[in-house]
Amino acid sequence: MKQEEKLNLMNEKENSNQTIQNPHIWPPFTQLTSSKPQLLVEKAKGALLLPKNRAPIIDGISSWWVTLHGHANEYIAKAIATQAEQLEQIIFADFTHPQAELLANRLSKLTGLEKLFFSDNGSTAVEVALKMARQWWKNKGDNRSQIIAFEGAYHGDTFGAMAVGERNIFSEPFDQMLFPVSRVPWPETWWGDEDFERREKEVLETLDHLLKTPTIAVIIEPLVQGAGGMRMVRSEFLVEVEKRIRHANSLLITDEVLTGFGRCGELFAFQRAGLKPDLISLSKGLTGGFLPMGVTMSSKKISEGFLGEDPKQTFWHGHSFTANPLGCAAANASLDLLERSPQKYLDFESRHLPHLQKIVKDPRIECPRITGTIAAFNIKVKANKGYLNSVGKIMKASALSVGVFIRPLGDVVYLMPPLCITDQELEKCYFGIQEGLNALS
Ligand SMILES: *Cc1c(COP(=O)(O)O)cnc(C)c1O
Repeated sequence: MKQEEKLNLMNEKENSNQTIQNPHIWPPFTQLTSSKPQLLVEKAKGALLLPKNRAPIIDGISSWWVTLHGHANEYIAKAIATQAEQLEQIIFADFTHPQAELLANRLSKLTGLEKLFFSDNGSTAVEVALKMARQWWKNKGDNRSQIIAFEGAYHGDTFGAMAVGERNIFSEPFDQMLFPVSRVPWPETWWGDEDFERREKEVLETLDHLLKTPTIAVIIEPLVQGAGGMRMVRSEFLVEVEKRIRHANSLLITDEVLTGFGRCGELFAFQRAGLKPDLISLSKGLTGGFLPMGVTMSSKKISEGFLGEDPKQTFWHGHSFTANPLGCAAANASLDLLERSPQKYLDFESRHLPHLQKIVKDPRIECPRITGTIAAFNIKVKANKGYLNSVGKIMKASALSVGVFIRPLGDVVYLMPPLCITDQELEKCYFGIQEGLNALS
Protein backbone atom coordinates (compact mmCIF):
# COMPACT_ATOMS: atom_id res chain seq x y z
CA MET A 1 0.00 0.00 0.00
CA LYS A 2 1.22 3.51 -0.74
CA GLN A 3 2.01 5.69 2.25
CA GLU A 4 -0.66 8.27 1.44
CA GLU A 5 -3.36 5.58 1.13
CA LYS A 6 -2.28 4.13 4.42
CA LEU A 7 -2.57 7.54 6.03
CA ASN A 8 -6.09 8.05 4.68
CA LEU A 9 -7.16 4.68 5.97
CA MET A 10 -5.79 5.44 9.42
CA ASN A 11 -7.47 8.80 9.49
CA GLU A 12 -10.83 7.26 8.64
CA LYS A 13 -10.47 4.72 11.41
CA GLU A 14 -9.61 7.43 13.86
CA ASN A 15 -12.22 9.96 12.79
CA SER A 16 -15.02 7.62 13.81
CA ASN A 17 -13.89 8.40 17.35
CA GLN A 18 -13.90 12.17 16.99
CA THR A 19 -16.27 15.09 16.88
CA ILE A 20 -16.53 17.18 13.74
CA GLN A 21 -14.46 20.34 13.67
CA ASN A 22 -16.17 23.37 15.22
CA PRO A 23 -16.68 25.76 12.27
CA HIS A 24 -15.98 28.78 14.49
CA ILE A 25 -12.55 27.66 15.66
CA TRP A 26 -9.39 28.37 13.69
CA PRO A 27 -6.74 26.07 15.16
CA PRO A 28 -3.01 26.93 15.12
CA PHE A 29 -0.67 25.57 12.41
CA THR A 30 -3.63 23.91 10.75
CA GLN A 31 -4.60 23.62 7.12
CA LEU A 32 -8.30 24.49 7.23
CA THR A 33 -9.34 22.32 4.28
CA SER A 34 -7.78 18.96 4.84
CA SER A 35 -7.00 18.68 8.53
CA LYS A 36 -8.57 16.24 10.88
CA PRO A 37 -10.98 17.61 13.50
CA GLN A 38 -9.56 18.45 16.90
CA LEU A 39 -10.08 15.79 19.53
CA LEU A 40 -12.26 16.88 22.45
CA VAL A 41 -10.61 16.55 25.88
CA GLU A 42 -12.30 17.58 29.11
CA LYS A 43 -9.79 16.28 31.61
CA ALA A 44 -6.12 15.44 31.90
CA LYS A 45 -4.04 14.19 34.81
CA GLY A 46 -0.31 13.68 35.11
CA ALA A 47 1.00 12.42 31.78
CA LEU A 48 -2.47 11.36 30.62
CA LEU A 49 -5.05 13.09 28.45
CA LEU A 50 -8.47 11.70 29.32
CA PRO A 51 -10.91 12.18 26.43
CA LYS A 52 -14.49 11.03 26.91
CA ASN A 53 -15.48 7.69 25.37
CA ARG A 54 -11.93 6.83 24.55
CA ALA A 55 -8.93 5.22 26.20
CA PRO A 56 -6.45 7.58 27.91
CA ILE A 57 -3.71 9.04 25.72
CA ILE A 58 -0.16 9.58 26.98
CA ASP A 59 1.00 13.13 26.29
CA GLY A 60 4.43 12.33 24.86
CA ILE A 61 5.30 15.95 24.04
CA SER A 62 4.04 17.82 27.10
CA SER A 63 1.28 19.54 25.11
CA TRP A 64 3.63 21.50 22.85
CA TRP A 65 6.48 21.47 25.35
CA VAL A 66 4.78 23.44 28.11
CA THR A 67 3.41 20.91 30.63
CA LEU A 68 6.35 20.51 32.95
CA HIS A 69 5.32 18.51 36.03
CA GLY A 70 2.16 16.97 34.57
CA HIS A 71 -1.41 17.97 33.79
CA ALA A 72 -3.67 19.35 36.51
CA ASN A 73 -0.89 19.23 39.11
CA GLU A 74 -2.65 19.83 42.42
CA TYR A 75 0.05 21.93 44.05
CA ILE A 76 0.10 24.41 41.17
CA ALA A 77 -3.69 24.35 40.78
CA LYS A 78 -4.05 25.26 44.48
CA ALA A 79 -1.52 28.07 44.22
CA ILE A 80 -3.49 29.59 41.33
CA ALA A 81 -6.85 29.18 43.11
CA THR A 82 -5.53 30.79 46.30
CA GLN A 83 -4.05 33.68 44.34
CA ALA A 84 -7.27 34.18 42.34
CA GLU A 85 -9.12 34.97 45.54
CA GLN A 86 -6.45 37.45 46.67
CA LEU A 87 -5.52 39.47 43.60
CA GLU A 88 -6.17 38.44 40.02
CA GLN A 89 -4.58 41.33 38.08
CA ILE A 90 -3.13 44.79 38.66
CA ILE A 91 -1.45 47.43 36.49
CA PHE A 92 2.23 46.66 36.91
CA ALA A 93 3.57 50.06 35.89
CA ASP A 94 2.40 51.58 39.17
CA PHE A 95 1.89 48.60 41.48
CA THR A 96 3.68 45.44 42.40
CA HIS A 97 2.54 42.34 44.29
CA PRO A 98 4.14 39.61 46.42
CA GLN A 99 4.14 36.85 43.78
CA ALA A 100 5.91 39.06 41.22
CA GLU A 101 8.47 40.18 43.81
CA LEU A 102 9.14 36.60 44.83
CA LEU A 103 9.42 35.35 41.25
CA ALA A 104 11.79 38.14 40.22
CA ASN A 105 14.02 37.50 43.25
CA ARG A 106 14.10 33.77 42.60
CA LEU A 107 14.74 33.91 38.86
CA SER A 108 17.39 36.57 39.30
CA LYS A 109 19.18 34.35 41.81
CA LEU A 110 18.80 31.22 39.68
CA THR A 111 19.98 32.79 36.41
CA GLY A 112 22.50 35.23 37.86
CA LEU A 113 20.94 38.02 35.77
CA GLU A 114 19.82 41.15 37.53
CA LYS A 115 16.44 42.12 36.16
CA LEU A 116 13.25 40.42 35.07
CA PHE A 117 10.91 41.93 32.45
CA PHE A 118 7.47 40.34 32.12
CA SER A 119 5.52 39.62 28.92
CA ASP A 120 2.95 37.08 27.77
CA ASN A 121 4.54 34.22 25.84
CA GLY A 122 7.70 32.94 24.21
CA SER A 123 7.50 35.14 21.13
CA THR A 124 7.12 38.31 23.20
CA ALA A 125 9.94 37.23 25.52
CA VAL A 126 12.12 37.07 22.39
CA GLU A 127 10.82 40.38 21.02
CA VAL A 128 11.71 42.05 24.31
CA ALA A 129 15.24 40.61 24.28
CA LEU A 130 15.79 41.79 20.69
CA LYS A 131 14.41 45.26 21.38
CA MET A 132 16.45 45.62 24.57
CA ALA A 133 19.62 44.59 22.76
CA ARG A 134 19.07 47.02 19.90
CA GLN A 135 18.12 49.92 22.18
CA TRP A 136 21.01 49.23 24.54
CA TRP A 137 23.42 50.05 21.71
CA LYS A 138 21.29 52.96 20.53
CA ASN A 139 21.27 54.44 24.05
CA LYS A 140 25.06 54.40 23.87
CA GLY A 141 24.88 56.34 20.59
CA ASP A 142 25.79 53.27 18.54
CA ASN A 143 23.49 52.66 15.58
CA ARG A 144 24.72 49.17 14.67
CA SER A 145 22.07 46.98 13.06
CA GLN A 146 23.38 43.47 12.41
CA ILE A 147 21.76 40.60 14.29
CA ILE A 148 23.15 37.09 13.86
CA ALA A 149 20.98 33.99 14.17
CA PHE A 150 21.35 30.32 13.29
CA GLU A 151 19.98 28.45 10.30
CA GLY A 152 17.05 26.27 11.33
CA ALA A 153 16.24 28.50 14.33
CA TYR A 154 12.73 29.03 15.67
CA HIS A 155 12.09 31.97 17.97
CA GLY A 156 8.34 32.49 17.68
CA ASP A 157 5.64 33.77 15.36
CA THR A 158 5.47 37.54 15.89
CA PHE A 159 7.32 39.70 13.36
CA GLY A 160 10.60 40.22 15.22
CA ALA A 161 10.73 36.63 16.39
CA MET A 162 9.92 35.47 12.85
CA ALA A 163 12.69 37.65 11.47
CA VAL A 164 15.39 35.91 13.53
CA GLY A 165 13.90 32.48 12.83
CA GLU A 166 14.57 30.38 9.76
CA ARG A 167 12.84 31.68 6.64
CA ASN A 168 10.60 28.89 5.41
CA ILE A 169 7.04 28.09 4.36
CA PHE A 170 5.79 29.52 7.67
CA SER A 171 7.39 32.91 7.18
CA GLU A 172 7.20 33.08 3.37
CA PRO A 173 4.17 35.40 3.02
CA PHE A 174 5.95 37.91 5.27
CA ASP A 175 9.59 37.54 4.22
CA GLN A 176 9.67 40.94 2.48
CA MET A 177 8.50 42.63 5.65
CA LEU A 178 11.04 41.06 8.01
CA PHE A 179 14.25 42.86 9.02
CA PRO A 180 17.44 41.36 7.59
CA VAL A 181 19.36 38.89 9.74
CA SER A 182 22.80 37.36 9.16
CA ARG A 183 22.93 33.61 9.47
CA VAL A 184 25.34 30.85 10.34
CA PRO A 185 24.74 27.11 10.00
CA TRP A 186 23.86 25.04 13.09
CA PRO A 187 26.35 22.18 13.47
CA GLU A 188 23.92 19.64 14.88
CA THR A 189 25.29 16.33 16.07
CA TRP A 190 24.03 12.88 17.09
CA TRP A 191 25.18 9.51 18.38
CA GLY A 192 28.06 8.18 16.32
CA ASP A 193 28.61 11.43 14.42
CA GLU A 194 32.30 11.58 13.56
CA ASP A 195 32.37 14.72 11.49
CA PHE A 196 31.18 17.31 14.00
CA GLU A 197 34.56 18.96 14.50
CA ARG A 198 34.89 19.89 10.85
CA ARG A 199 31.35 21.30 10.72
CA GLU A 200 31.78 23.25 13.95
CA LYS A 201 35.04 24.72 12.67
CA GLU A 202 33.39 25.91 9.48
CA VAL A 203 30.57 27.55 11.39
CA LEU A 204 33.01 29.32 13.72
CA GLU A 205 34.91 30.65 10.73
CA THR A 206 31.69 32.01 9.21
CA LEU A 207 30.83 33.56 12.56
CA ASP A 208 34.28 35.17 12.85
CA HIS A 209 33.77 36.69 9.45
CA LEU A 210 30.28 38.04 10.21
CA LEU A 211 31.33 39.44 13.58
CA LYS A 212 33.75 41.80 11.80
CA THR A 213 30.63 43.88 11.16
CA PRO A 214 29.45 45.58 14.38
CA THR A 215 26.74 43.30 15.74
CA ILE A 216 23.84 43.99 18.10
CA ALA A 217 23.63 40.41 19.33
CA VAL A 218 23.80 36.74 18.48
CA ILE A 219 20.62 34.84 19.36
CA ILE A 220 20.85 31.13 20.16
CA GLU A 221 18.58 28.30 21.24
CA PRO A 222 21.10 26.79 23.67
CA LEU A 223 21.86 23.04 23.18
CA VAL A 224 18.66 22.20 21.27
CA GLN A 225 16.92 23.85 18.34
CA GLY A 226 13.31 22.84 19.02
CA ALA A 227 10.87 23.47 16.18
CA GLY A 228 13.74 23.28 13.68
CA GLY A 229 13.85 19.54 14.36
CA MET A 230 15.22 18.87 17.89
CA ARG A 231 18.68 19.56 16.50
CA MET A 232 21.32 19.28 19.22
CA VAL A 233 24.79 20.80 19.44
CA ARG A 234 27.71 20.28 21.81
CA SER A 235 28.34 22.59 24.75
CA GLU A 236 31.95 22.95 23.58
CA PHE A 237 30.70 24.52 20.35
CA LEU A 238 28.47 27.01 22.17
CA VAL A 239 31.38 28.02 24.42
CA GLU A 240 33.45 28.78 21.31
CA VAL A 241 30.56 30.84 19.92
CA GLU A 242 30.41 32.88 23.10
CA LYS A 243 34.19 33.45 23.06
CA ARG A 244 33.83 35.04 19.63
CA ILE A 245 30.87 37.15 20.73
CA ARG A 246 32.90 38.49 23.67
CA HIS A 247 35.94 39.09 21.51
CA ALA A 248 33.79 41.11 19.07
CA ASN A 249 32.18 42.99 21.98
CA SER A 250 28.67 41.92 20.96
CA LEU A 251 25.83 40.52 23.09
CA LEU A 252 24.55 36.97 23.62
CA ILE A 253 20.82 36.26 23.79
CA THR A 254 19.84 32.73 24.78
CA ASP A 255 16.28 31.83 23.84
CA GLU A 256 15.44 29.34 26.60
CA VAL A 257 11.71 29.37 25.91
CA LEU A 258 11.90 25.64 25.26
CA THR A 259 15.13 24.64 27.00
CA GLY A 260 14.54 26.32 30.37
CA PHE A 261 13.26 24.78 33.61
CA GLY A 262 14.95 21.41 33.45
CA ARG A 263 14.10 20.42 29.88
CA CYS A 264 17.75 19.99 28.97
CA GLY A 265 18.87 18.16 32.09
CA GLU A 266 19.84 21.20 34.14
CA LEU A 267 17.66 24.03 35.33
CA PHE A 268 18.76 26.10 32.32
CA ALA A 269 20.54 24.98 29.17
CA PHE A 270 22.95 27.92 29.31
CA GLN A 271 24.21 26.57 32.63
CA ARG A 272 24.75 23.11 31.25
CA ALA A 273 26.55 24.56 28.24
CA GLY A 274 28.67 26.89 30.39
CA LEU A 275 27.48 30.20 28.89
CA LYS A 276 27.01 33.64 30.39
CA PRO A 277 24.20 35.26 28.38
CA ASP A 278 23.37 38.97 28.55
CA LEU A 279 19.67 38.33 27.92
CA ILE A 280 17.54 35.21 28.42
CA SER A 281 14.01 34.58 27.10
CA LEU A 282 11.82 32.21 29.10
CA SER A 283 8.25 30.95 28.77
CA LYS A 284 6.64 27.50 28.10
CA GLY A 285 7.59 25.63 31.32
CA LEU A 286 7.79 28.86 33.35
CA THR A 287 4.33 28.43 34.90
CA GLY A 288 4.63 24.65 34.85
CA GLY A 289 2.61 24.92 31.64
CA PHE A 290 -0.51 26.20 33.42
CA LEU A 291 -0.74 29.79 32.20
CA PRO A 292 0.74 31.85 29.38
CA MET A 293 3.58 34.06 30.58
CA GLY A 294 6.96 35.12 29.26
CA VAL A 295 9.92 36.75 30.94
CA THR A 296 13.14 38.27 29.69
CA MET A 297 16.06 38.30 32.12
CA SER A 298 18.70 40.96 31.57
CA SER A 299 22.15 41.42 33.04
CA LYS A 300 23.14 44.46 35.08
CA LYS A 301 25.23 45.65 32.15
CA ILE A 302 22.08 45.75 29.98
CA SER A 303 19.77 47.42 32.49
CA GLU A 304 22.39 50.07 33.29
CA GLY A 305 22.28 51.09 29.65
CA PHE A 306 18.73 52.31 30.23
CA LEU A 307 19.48 54.56 33.20
CA GLY A 308 19.21 58.33 32.82
CA GLU A 309 16.77 61.24 32.89
CA ASP A 310 16.31 61.43 29.12
CA PRO A 311 12.95 59.85 28.14
CA LYS A 312 14.74 58.43 25.11
CA GLN A 313 16.67 56.10 27.41
CA THR A 314 13.43 54.41 28.51
CA PHE A 315 12.44 50.93 27.37
CA TRP A 316 8.99 51.85 26.04
CA HIS A 317 7.45 48.42 26.00
CA GLY A 318 4.74 46.68 28.03
CA HIS A 319 1.77 44.33 27.84
CA SER A 320 -1.67 44.62 29.43
CA PHE A 321 -1.22 41.46 31.46
CA THR A 322 2.33 42.22 32.62
CA ALA A 323 3.17 40.16 35.73
CA ASN A 324 -0.30 38.64 35.95
CA PRO A 325 -0.54 37.47 39.58
CA LEU A 326 -2.06 34.09 38.66
CA GLY A 327 0.80 33.39 36.27
CA CYS A 328 3.35 34.48 38.87
CA ALA A 329 1.74 32.23 41.50
CA ALA A 330 1.85 29.29 39.09
CA ALA A 331 5.50 30.04 38.26
CA ASN A 332 6.48 30.20 41.93
CA ALA A 333 4.67 26.94 42.63
CA SER A 334 6.40 25.32 39.65
CA LEU A 335 9.80 26.49 40.95
CA ASP A 336 8.95 24.99 44.35
CA LEU A 337 8.40 21.63 42.67
CA LEU A 338 11.63 21.88 40.66
CA GLU A 339 13.56 22.75 43.81
CA ARG A 340 11.95 19.95 45.76
CA SER A 341 12.93 17.19 43.34
CA PRO A 342 15.70 18.24 40.96
CA GLN A 343 16.59 14.59 40.26
CA LYS A 344 13.44 14.41 38.13
CA TYR A 345 15.12 16.51 35.45
CA LEU A 346 18.75 15.78 36.31
CA ASP A 347 18.23 12.03 35.78
CA PHE A 348 15.84 12.04 32.84
CA GLU A 349 18.44 11.21 30.20
CA SER A 350 19.15 7.89 31.85
CA ARG A 351 15.44 7.02 31.56
CA HIS A 352 15.35 7.65 27.79
CA LEU A 353 18.67 5.92 27.21
CA PRO A 354 17.80 2.19 27.24
CA HIS A 355 14.69 2.78 25.12
CA LEU A 356 16.47 4.82 22.48
CA GLN A 357 19.35 2.31 22.43
CA LYS A 358 16.81 -0.35 21.55
CA ILE A 359 15.03 1.65 18.88
CA VAL A 360 18.22 2.75 17.07
CA LYS A 361 18.63 -0.82 15.88
CA ASP A 362 15.68 -0.20 13.55
CA PRO A 363 17.08 0.23 10.03
CA ARG A 364 14.49 2.90 9.20
CA ILE A 365 15.95 5.49 11.57
CA GLU A 366 19.11 7.59 11.85
CA CYS A 367 20.75 10.31 13.95
CA PRO A 368 19.52 9.31 17.44
CA ARG A 369 20.13 11.93 20.12
CA ILE A 370 19.15 12.85 23.69
CA THR A 371 19.43 16.05 25.72
CA GLY A 372 17.76 16.00 29.11
CA THR A 373 14.07 15.17 28.73
CA ILE A 374 14.23 15.33 24.93
CA ALA A 375 14.93 12.22 22.85
CA ALA A 376 14.83 12.37 19.04
CA PHE A 377 15.78 10.61 15.82
CA ASN A 378 15.20 11.06 12.09
CA ILE A 379 13.29 8.76 9.79
CA LYS A 380 15.36 7.93 6.72
CA VAL A 381 13.48 9.39 3.76
CA LYS A 382 14.47 9.38 0.11
CA ALA A 383 12.86 12.65 -0.90
CA ASN A 384 11.13 15.65 0.61
CA LYS A 385 13.27 15.84 3.74
CA GLY A 386 11.92 18.11 6.45
CA TYR A 387 8.74 19.34 8.09
CA LEU A 388 6.37 18.63 5.21
CA ASN A 389 7.33 14.98 4.83
CA SER A 390 4.30 12.78 5.49
CA VAL A 391 6.10 10.01 7.42
CA GLY A 392 5.52 12.00 10.59
CA LYS A 393 1.77 11.96 10.06
CA ILE A 394 1.78 8.20 9.64
CA MET A 395 3.85 7.77 12.80
CA LYS A 396 1.54 10.12 14.67
CA ALA A 397 -1.66 8.35 13.60
CA SER A 398 -0.40 4.90 14.41
CA ALA A 399 1.05 5.90 17.81
CA LEU A 400 -2.30 7.51 18.63
CA SER A 401 -4.12 4.31 17.77
CA VAL A 402 -2.28 2.66 20.70
CA GLY A 403 -2.85 5.62 23.03
CA VAL A 404 0.36 7.64 22.60
CA PHE A 405 0.36 11.25 21.43
CA ILE A 406 3.41 12.37 19.47
CA ARG A 407 3.66 15.14 16.90
CA PRO A 408 6.70 14.52 14.70
CA LEU A 409 8.29 17.51 12.96
CA GLY A 410 8.02 15.96 9.49
CA ASP A 411 10.70 13.26 9.41
CA VAL A 412 11.94 14.06 12.93
CA VAL A 413 10.35 11.98 15.68
CA TYR A 414 10.85 13.00 19.28
CA LEU A 415 9.57 12.57 22.81
CA MET A 416 9.49 15.32 25.42
CA PRO A 417 7.33 13.99 28.24
CA PRO A 418 6.30 15.79 31.41
CA LEU A 419 8.58 15.10 34.39
CA CYS A 420 5.88 13.08 36.18
CA ILE A 421 5.71 10.36 33.52
CA THR A 422 6.02 6.87 35.04
CA ASP A 423 8.46 4.24 33.77
CA GLN A 424 5.54 2.25 32.44
CA GLU A 425 4.10 5.23 30.58
CA LEU A 426 7.49 6.07 29.10
CA GLU A 427 7.88 2.50 27.95
CA LYS A 428 4.50 2.76 26.29
CA CYS A 429 5.59 5.92 24.46
CA TYR A 430 8.41 3.95 22.88
CA PHE A 431 6.00 1.15 22.07
CA GLY A 432 3.85 3.73 20.28
CA ILE A 433 6.87 4.89 18.32
CA GLN A 434 7.71 1.31 17.38
CA GLU A 435 4.12 0.87 16.18
CA GLY A 436 4.60 3.99 14.07
CA LEU A 437 7.82 2.64 12.58
CA ASN A 438 6.15 -0.65 11.76
CA ALA A 439 3.40 1.26 9.93
CA LEU A 440 5.99 2.78 7.61
CA SER A 441 7.10 -0.38 5.83
C1 LIG B 1 7.92 27.94 21.33
C2 LIG B 1 9.11 28.77 21.19
C3 LIG B 1 9.01 30.18 21.07
C4 LIG B 1 7.69 30.87 20.95
O1 LIG B 1 6.93 30.74 22.10
P1 LIG B 1 5.34 31.02 22.04
O2 LIG B 1 4.92 30.99 23.46
O3 LIG B 1 4.78 29.88 21.23
O4 LIG B 1 5.15 32.33 21.38
C5 LIG B 1 10.17 30.91 21.02
N1 LIG B 1 11.37 30.31 21.08
C6 LIG B 1 11.52 28.98 21.20
C7 LIG B 1 12.88 28.40 21.29
C8 LIG B 1 10.40 28.16 21.24
O5 LIG B 1 10.54 26.84 21.31
